[in-house]
Amino acid sequence: MHELTIATSLVELACDHAARNGGGRVARVDIRLGVLCGIARSLYFCWGPASRGTLCQGANLHIEEVPLTVKCAHCDAVKTPRALHNFRCPDCGRPTPKVVTGREMQLAAIELADHRERLLA
Ligand SMILES: [Zn+2]
Repeated sequence: MHELTIATSLVELACDHAARNGGGRVARVDIRLGVLCGIARSLYFCWGPASRGTLCQGANLHIEEVPLTVKCAHCDAVKTPRALHNFRCPDCGRPTPKVVTGREMQLAAIELADHRERLLA
């Protein structure tokens, strides 16, 4: 996926929300981004250009990075691998292809300039 496209769709979602809630400006947008997406830095970079001329212009983008966790079937537990590209259970060493967190991209909250409103995380 192209980061500018992602930033633009986040801007559109936030602007749509602002327009439906009084049409005020967006002050802040919070997203949750899995570390495996690896786009946090470029998303920050694209946010300015993507939001220019919209209700999101000047809004702060906050990215909460979600760590990688995997489900180990052998231990029947959720584990945190030692490295991002090492999908093995840190305890029993077996492959753990089932990613539990680390791939998500969610809009967590939108704060409007005139009042604060939280979306479901
Ligand atoms: Zn295990």
